[in-house]
Amino acid sequence: MVDMLTPVLSATWDADRPWTRRTYEANGGYAALRTALGMAPGDLVDAVKKSGLRGRGGAGFPTGMKWGFLPPDDGKPRYLVVNADESEPGTCKDTPLMLATPHLLVEGVVISSYAIGANRAFIYLRGEELHVYRRLLQAVEEAREAGYVGTDVLGSGFDLDVVVHAGAGAYICGEETALLDSLEGRRGQPRLKPPFPAVAGLYARPTVVNNVESIASVPSIVSKGADWFAGLGTEKSTGYGLFSVSGHVKHPGQYEAPLGITMRQLLELAGGMRDLPDGTPGELKFWTPGGSSTPLFTAEHLDVPLDFESTMQAGSMLGTRALQMFDQTTSVVRAVLRWTEFYAHESCGKCTPCREGTYWLVQVLRRIEAGKGTEEDVDTLLDTCDNILGRSFCALGDGATSPITSAVKYFRDEFLSGTHTPAWELFPYERSSVF
Ligand code: NAD
Ligand code: SF4
Repeated sequence: MVDMLTPVLSATWDADRPWTRRTYEANGGYAALRTALGMAPGDLVDAVKKSGLRGRGGAGFPTGMKWGFLPPDDGKPRYLVVNADESEPGTCKDTPLMLATPHLLVEGVVISSYAIGANRAFIYLRGEELHVYRRLLQAVEEAREAGYVGTDVLGSGFDLDVVVHAGAGAYICGEETALLDSLEGRRGQPRLKPPFPAVAGLYARPTVVNNVESIASVPSIVSKGADWFAGLGTEKSTGYGLFSVSGHVKHPGQYEAPLGITMRQLLELAGGMRDLPDGTPGELKFWTPGGSSTPLFTAEHLDVPLDFESTMQAGSMLGTRALQMFDQTTSVVRAVLRWTEFYAHESCGKCTPCREGTYWLVQVLRRIEAGKGTEEDVDTLLDTCDNILGRSFCALGDGATSPITSAVKYFRDEFLSGTHTPAWELFPYERSSVF
């Protein structure tokens, strides 16, 4: 089973102080940058296109194609912005990556900026992560001292300034245009698209916004080749990625594997479902393939290949590969309520379906969770979701409906049963479950 793993991004996570430039360089770090600076920027864009790399922030948009949308260089500023505002419930891949190997991200930033002709790059980090902020600042400073960042990078004539910016902890600032508003010093709220950031982004200039893991994948494409990358994964979902397995498994953690691996294989790597405190074998009840805004899966979906196409065909999305596993002690109603409270709290309030809809979803779910739900309440839930989905200004509203509609689809009876005992009441000494 271990053969299934492809440690590339996580290859040095177990090394001694892997976050230092010294360890990173000792393991071949910044060699890809030297190679890249010897290539024409257009050839780098072509290599990323050929690799098939698709955005690792959730949407899976082809990275090389996004770079290719930039208008021709007019000598005026254009920017690279790294979206490090990882906040989706369950999503926890970018933070360990930045903590363990911040130089991998910095190297990716320099190569990508060179490829798209940007002389200034921003890394936008979620505000709560002060420890990650410090680590990134240190890495950028170390890179600057070594000549990887700054004026005339490694004598190539290419100049690059890298700014690390911490937001104020709003989930909506992970939406790329709200992020850009926030970076410009305004309240973070989504902008109308089009124009897409590639045409008019930061300060209305052409801007590429890419996720941390996408940018950190670029050095390996340069050093090992686009064909190597395209040879991993599936035909349309190439390469590898970090699969974050959390919840009621024996060994939660980050498993780096080719796209297309199945949850059954990952579950085996994670030691299987953990036993209940009284020794009863744990049984999988439901799971999220890509964070809480992707429709739930159940045990019947264990063999769905975790790639963009197969997950969609099976009724969900690959999203951020945040695999949250829940056993039979979990109240699905309580889990869904908790997520919905999060979305209602984080709704930016710009559009009515999401602002009002998420509020009312919480009210109805609270009544159901209190054991007072009726058939009519379940219909109201579905009707409200129907009025949010496709009518919201950004993906937050749509995402908020996914756990509810999928939970009703698989567990309708539970919404009406009136018993939503949390695990900590079933097993008073078992405190690790939040549901
Ligand atoms: P999207 O599909 O609208 O866009 C994806 C990317 O492609 C964007 O960068 C967009 O600018 C670009 N793009 C799309 N069409 C384009 C075009 N015609 N021209 C130029 N560029 C184009 O998705 P989104 O709203 O940016 O993101 C939604 C996803 O975010 C969800 O699928 C979800 O999985 C994910 N998400 C992630 C987190 C997290 O914590 N990482 C949190 C919430 C949601
Ligand atoms: Fe704001 Fe929600 Fe509307 Fe997005 S869908 S713009 S988060 S109110």
